[in-house]
Amino acid sequence: MLQKLPLLTLFSALFLFSCAGPGFTGFSYDPEGVEDTTDRETFPQYYRTIGFSGDGVWFSNEFNGSRMNDVYRIDKNHFRVVIDPENAPINNSPWFGFKVWSDSTADITIELEYPESHQRYYPKISKDKINWRPFDPTGYSNNASDGIGILNLELQNDTLWIAAQEIQTTSVFQNWLSEMRSRPFITSQTIGYSHHGRPVKLVKMAQSSLQVQKGIIVLFGRQHPPEVPGFMVNLIFMETLASDSELAKHFRSYFDIWAFPMMNPDGADEGHWRHNAGGIDLNRDWHAFNQPETRAVRDALLTLKERKNRKVFYGIDFHSTSSNIFYPIERNYHTFPRYFTYDWADALIKELPDLNLRVLPYDTSSPIAKNWIFNTFGADAVTFEVHDEIDRELMNELAIKSAELFMKKMIDIYQSSYLYAGTNTVSTN
Ligand SMILES: [Zn+2]
Repeated sequence: MLQKLPLLTLFSALFLFSCAGPGFTGFSYDPEGVEDTTDRETFPQYYRTIGFSGDGVWFSNEFNGSRMNDVYRIDKNHFRVVIDPENAPINNSPWFGFKVWSDSTADITIELEYPESHQRYYPKISKDKINWRPFDPTGYSNNASDGIGILNLELQNDTLWIAAQEIQTTSVFQNWLSEMRSRPFITSQTIGYSHHGRPVKLVKMAQSSLQVQKGIIVLFGRQHPPEVPGFMVNLIFMETLASDSELAKHFRSYFDIWAFPMMNPDGADEGHWRHNAGGIDLNRDWHAFNQPETRAVRDALLTLKERKNRKVFYGIDFHSTSSNIFYPIERNYHTFPRYFTYDWADALIKELPDLNLRVLPYDTSSPIAKNWIFNTFGADAVTFEVHDEIDRELMNELAIKSAELFMKKMIDIYQSSYLYAGTNTVSTN
């Protein structure tokens, strides 16, 4: 039996030191210097099971997608789990994930402590790491003054998983991909490798078609590991585009999909808050391309420049944050298609008013994926943010409805560009 004592790790010491510089409060949305995307040191968590023999309570982070840097006992059946990021400064996206069980039934209290940050994600709980539900609200509180989350629960011999969001690792993605590839028009290929050698995958949807010209829709996902609702919407969105409906078949006769749903595989498997294993926010690396994941995706997409009968029409970069938001390109930029994001958002707001979808335009200067699509291909693009705590049924509806409206509107654009205006009249840039 292991008895774990409170310990200021070397990492904690470095972390405190690194946060002492001016400008970083631990809560800023984008820390200073985020656009310098050259590699920075990261501090991996230690994978271990920590037991408290007196209470018969056990904690473990020995699985992919976990994050639990330390645990110590405060009192009988009262524990504190310490959660640190992979490095700092960093956006406040404090991912946590661990499993816990006890030798016999016990009521316990678990505090979640973020030494340089504060509780953000509403805890989710699972008995099998597959089916998740939000933590019982009567057992959860969030101490605003010190940013600690407090969970009260009855523990039994059966293992419980507790995490910031559903645990969606690369193996979950691989299983999904294997199922998707049973469709003859879906293929995947490894286009590069992450810092830690995990594959970066391109998933292509290309139904055979009589059309000479096809549009390309580019989908990015999971640049930021904790943004699981955005990831899940991305996958359901793709399933809807791949469905047997007449709408989807019609859409696929005009458009191919190039999707990169798991852009940060190291971050997803290693329980990162924000960064890849190079210690960098990938969605700030679309000017410098210092990171292997962004470089691989860029190089795959640049091959489209040489294909005269393939034109990039649109890009979607899936994320999640504290509300449902579309970040379109400002109206004064001449995108092709023009104003697509605004029209699509209007239709979605009408269909699903409960989303309270906000539309917040931005200019095209920042080094993010959406802007790279516009600056490289002239196409319209959006950063599609899903609410961190969206009701999961509404989330499914959002994914399906947004995909259906997207297909209808894109078919209209295609037809007015190629069919009605005569074939091959649109420049392929
Ligand atoms: Zn994000």
